[in-house]
Amino acid sequence: MQEKPTGAEIRQEFIDFFVEHGHTFVPSSSLVPGGDSTLLFTNAGMVQFKDVFLGTDQRPYSRAVNAQKCLRVSGKHNDLDQVGRDNTHHTFFEMLGNWSFGDYYKKEAITWAWQLLTEVWNLPKDRLWATYFKDELDEIPEDRQAAEIWLDQPGFDPDHLLPFGRKENFWEMADTGPCGPDTEIHFDRGPEYCDKSDDPDHVCHVNGDCERFLEIWNNVFIQYNRLSESELVALEKTHVDTGMGFERIVSILQDTPSNYKTDLFIPLIKRVQELTGHSDEEREDNLTPYRVIADHARATAFLIADGVVPGNIGRNYICRMLVRRAARFGMKLDLHEPFMAKVAQVVIDDYGDFYSELKRNKKAILESLTREEEQFQKTVRAGLEQLDELLSEIKEKGDKVLDGGDAFELYATHGLPLEITQDIAEEQGLKVDANGFSKAMEAHRLASGAGQEFGEMGAEDVEIYTKLTRELQDSGKLDQTGVTYTPYQAIKDPVEILSLIKNGEPTGFAEPDDTVEVLLPKTWFYVESGGQVSDTGQIVSANGKDWIIRVTGMRKPAAGVIVHVGKVVKGTPTVGDLALAQVDEDRRTQIMRNHTATHLLHTALHKVLGEHARQAGSLVAPDRLRFDFNHPEPMTREEILAVEAEVNHAILANYPLHIEEKPLQSAIDEGAMALFGEKYEAEVRTISIGDEERLSYELCGGTHVDETGDIGLFLITYEGSIASGVRRIEAVTGWRAYQLARERMNILDEINHFLGTAPVETVQKIKNLEDSRHAAEKEIEKLRTQLVTSAFDEQLDDTEDIEGIPVLKAILPDADMDVLREMADKFRQKYDTGVALLASQQDEKPILIAVVTEDLINRGLHAGRLVQQVAGIVGGGGGGRPTLAQAGGKDASKLSEALDQVAVYIRENLK
Ligand SMILES: [Zn+2]
Ligand SMILES: [Zn+2]
Repeated sequence: MQEKPTGAEIRQEFIDFFVEHGHTFVPSSSLVPGGDSTLLFTNAGMVQFKDVFLGTDQRPYSRAVNAQKCLRVSGKHNDLDQVGRDNTHHTFFEMLGNWSFGDYYKKEAITWAWQLLTEVWNLPKDRLWATYFKDELDEIPEDRQAAEIWLDQPGFDPDHLLPFGRKENFWEMADTGPCGPDTEIHFDRGPEYCDKSDDPDHVCHVNGDCERFLEIWNNVFIQYNRLSESELVALEKTHVDTGMGFERIVSILQDTPSNYKTDLFIPLIKRVQELTGHSDEEREDNLTPYRVIADHARATAFLIADGVVPGNIGRNYICRMLVRRAARFGMKLDLHEPFMAKVAQVVIDDYGDFYSELKRNKKAILESLTREEEQFQKTVRAGLEQLDELLSEIKEKGDKVLDGGDAFELYATHGLPLEITQDIAEEQGLKVDANGFSKAMEAHRLASGAGQEFGEMGAEDVEIYTKLTRELQDSGKLDQTGVTYTPYQAIKDPVEILSLIKNGEPTGFAEPDDTVEVLLPKTWFYVESGGQVSDTGQIVSANGKDWIIRVTGMRKPAAGVIVHVGKVVKGTPTVGDLALAQVDEDRRTQIMRNHTATHLLHTALHKVLGEHARQAGSLVAPDRLRFDFNHPEPMTREEILAVEAEVNHAILANYPLHIEEKPLQSAIDEGAMALFGEKYEAEVRTISIGDEERLSYELCGGTHVDETGDIGLFLITYEGSIASGVRRIEAVTGWRAYQLARERMNILDEINHFLGTAPVETVQKIKNLEDSRHAAEKEIEKLRTQLVTSAFDEQLDDTEDIEGIPVLKAILPDADMDVLREMADKFRQKYDTGVALLASQQDEKPILIAVVTEDLINRGLHAGRLVQQVAGIVGGGGGGRPTLAQAGGKDASKLSEALDQVAVYIRENLK
């Protein structure tokens, strides 16, 4: 091997090699998978191409090459606790891949792989091995084709070709769907890399269990569609999907024993060493913390760049957990001040040229990391102490597992993520009940009203639409690329109805009240995307009167297929009829106002709150807009008003909008804002607002007004929280904003009319009214007490004689417990010996108070027991001291019956 190439060079050589062979370079998609709610993070290069293989998406290229950002924190491919403890596991990693979508196949794929490895990268041919598929169950044909192609490669050792079965060499996307055999390329690092050499039974081999043979590249040949467990059908078009772990190939080409010793990690580890002031020897003695910090700094910098900030659930939880886990490992190195930003700075410097999102979001990355570490440090000490106590208790009891609910409590009160608790438990030879933790977290999440975290992905009947479009394409009625979609340009000419679909089946015609899907050769109805809702409208016969279909929604059931979903309201639309597709244009105009306002709002939030306030979701509807963004705390009223004013300033300045199509990479390089969770094509549409000074610049496929003045007026109607660290704003524009303002002004007018005030005096007048109401209430309270008191004064002499004791029973309407207590005192003042039972109703429920004078306690009477016995009658309970006790009940109608119990009680208990 010659001079060592850098990681950046290796990545670029891979891309250049395939670009030279006719591939289009496709930038990495976000770590947040676009349009795939089943996946927490992008975990392989194929995620952004999945829909192409499934047939629901098509691309302008048939050969692609990419370097994809991936994250795996748990699951079958990774366990977090291995990260940092060995040479090869990472949370964040890059995956290199070359792709053929119905283009080249096994011959080119294998030949190019061999050329790149042996001619460009000069890996010794005698160190390379290949595997191919041979079914151990003998049900799927052996991949002889791949085997033959391998044997044809110049200098390939035929003894280095090995067959393997389904586990190693047959790839499936899911239980059903595209699948096929694969061929893996392995590299023999030499016997000195074997870590099992002291085991006398060990033999090094490909797919073995030691570190000598490393799988470096997997080429998957997608040639089947799996319909069921036993049924495979050949695909019409075959594809190639390859994956090469970037960190691994760099470690081979740089000849380092560990991925962490490559130039992908060394600068990060050096930065940590600068912070600790360790010698190289001390660093080597503490390898795990160094590796964990380097790994997690990469992962969190890339996550935050993609909009995933630390938070409480889902993806945000993972980001929080990684920052905190790194911080905890930092404590082992005596790093007690926030340090992650300093390490992430190296990530930004080293990776930012290729992944420009790191540079663009530098401020957000550094600030979020430091803020999260500071927050963690506030509670971590108490959390760690409590965990220590819990673990000691467990050990004392001879248990091995920490309860999941306890682990969740540590997270909820002290911010200790499960993964850190697990790390610490493991260091002491104990385990944590992770299922119990998840259950407790789920229960907490539901209780706090956070709702379902990820939705189910709807299954589409792709096949029926694919077949339909192919037939229409073959007959020349439909363009080869599918339905022509021009949402930005109205279509006013009649077009032919190509197909009507009813209950999932094509039909010749439809009748009134039928729900149908209408396929036209072209449409300008907008199909929901980027938060903007679909257009509605109608499709009518060319003469406008034979039949009418009311369109209520739009759908994209398969690649190139767009259908109008609607209901027949008149006549019998028939396939072949000429039709006019009429978008509901007033509604569309409202939507456009709201969409442009959303971009202005985004800019205003950046200006008022800071760069971290990035979009986390949006809804653009005709009647309102909704905008979710990252921000750690509620906005103040001043901030809300400042944001609203910013947007209205921009509206009144009447800035023009510039809409341009350009390659994704150049838009991003120019600083256009891309939204995480969105999927972008190679050619993107950009919307910029403003002239000399660009106010806003975003990638966006939505429909917009021509000039900001068209928005009219912008009013914020709501600001609130939707998840930890994520806020939501709702707002209205245009006519709806006018209506809202008018409604509010009408209410104010009515109030002023009623109060007889001018608007400037309204608030003071209402304050005055409130004050006098308070005063009046107090006065009423006082009078009521006086009334009760004077009524009671008359009753006070009305005692009965029971067993020689004066007993007072009284029902005092309108008295609350305080008044009853005052009356009880009056009784005690007047009688040295005696018993009183006073009752009233409050909120329709009876309340009672009992008094027994001091001298009668020795004679067996007790106010608490008395009141308890009495309250039993009215369906309640109570208690208190021997001299004074109170009770409440449920049934006021039994009050007088209850009072009669006094005599019973006294006769039974008096000594
Ligand atoms: Zn070995
Ligand atoms: Zn937009």
